[in-house]
Order: sequence, then structure tokens, then C-alpha cells
Amino acid sequence: MKSQKKTQPVVVGLDLAGSPKRPSGFCWLKGRDAETQELYSDEEILETISPIKPALIAIDAPLTLPRGRHCLEDDCYCAGGNHFRECDLELRRMKIRVFPLTLGPMRMLTKRGMALASKFNKMGYKTIETYPGAAQDIWKIPRQKDPKGLKKGLRQFKLNGALGKRGLSVHEMDAICCALVAQLHLQKKSLALGDPTEGLMILPKP
Ligand SMILES: [Zn+2]
Repeated sequence: MKSQKKTQPVVVGLDLAGSPKRPSGFCWLKGRDAETQELYSDEEILETISPIKPALIAIDAPLTLPRGRHCLEDDCYCAGGNHFRECDLELRRMKIRVFPLTLGPMRMLTKRGMALASKFNKMGYKTIETYPGAAQDIWKIPRQKDPKGLKKGLRQFKLNGALGKRGLSVHEMDAICCALVAQLHLQKKSLALGDPTEGLMILPKP
């Protein structure tokens, strides 16, 4: 018989906002125990996550650039290049809506996500990119525009803690989804979209 006492790894989900002025959702997940919080500045995010020593951090933000792009500046020679990565195109083929990471608010989110991931990586923590909206589509549960439906849909994961929290925000619920994807990835139950030499997006296996 397999031991039930085996130590479960701690994973973290981060539903990152493009701006530190808006709340980012954070979820700590170990086995079925989950806790959530809203965080703002990069410092707050780093100070909250680094002492946890997570086995994996799943971030809802683009963490890589399309091939041929080396930055997101309009005045750079690379600006005429790709707007989508292979993983974005694969998502589109799955009929899941994606926004070009090179434009508008996505550009801010991409810059913030890449900078934070690089800091985590330097601290020795592994990061993966995920997309809670796509995970919710794959799980066939409502997205954050229907917060009650999403909360109800998350009950299937039988988590202790987080879902009982009063005033649980959509950012915290998306962070829970990110953390669940991190857990599935460690259990080798994830799907990796895209080209590994460009950048992968990790999702639950349908
Ligand atoms: Zn450039």
C-alpha cells in the first residue's frame, strides 16, 4: 500500500495584474490545503512567495516573447515581428481566445511577468506560464466573469481553506486555478502547448 503520509510539495499560483496598483491573486497549495491572498507590489509578491520555497510557481502572464522579438519596444528593429507565439496559436486552434502579448495592457503584463519570473528563477524557483481562463474552459467550469459559477466549479477539487474564505476575489480564484495547474504539472498530468525553444504554456490535460 502506498503511504498516504508522503510529503506533498508546496506550489504557488499567481494571477498577476499588469499594474502593481491592481490586486494580483496569490494561492498557496499543498495537497488539498489552499490559502489565498491579494498582493500588490513586486516586493510584496517576492516577500510572500520566497519564504514558502515552492516546488513550482505557475503564473498567469506571458513569460516569453514571440520568436524574433527580443523586447516589446515600438522603436526597436524587432517591433515588426511576430505578435503571437506557437503556444498562443495552438490555443487559438483550440478555440480559446488569446490576446496578443505585444499590444496594450498585455504588454505591461508581459513585461511584469517576465521580470518577476526572472527574479524567481535567480532565487532558484521554477516558474511556468499558465492561463486560468483556458484551464477553466478545459475543466468546463465558468470563467471569472461569472464569479459564483467559477467558485461553484472549483468545489470539484475539494480544497480545504480557500473556498470557504469570505469575499474570495476572482483574482484569488484564478490564482487557485494556476496553483492547481502547477500541481498537475508536477504530477505529469499537464499539457504543454507551444515550442519549448520559444516558450510553453502549461494547461490541464483535457
Ligand atoms: Zn527589440
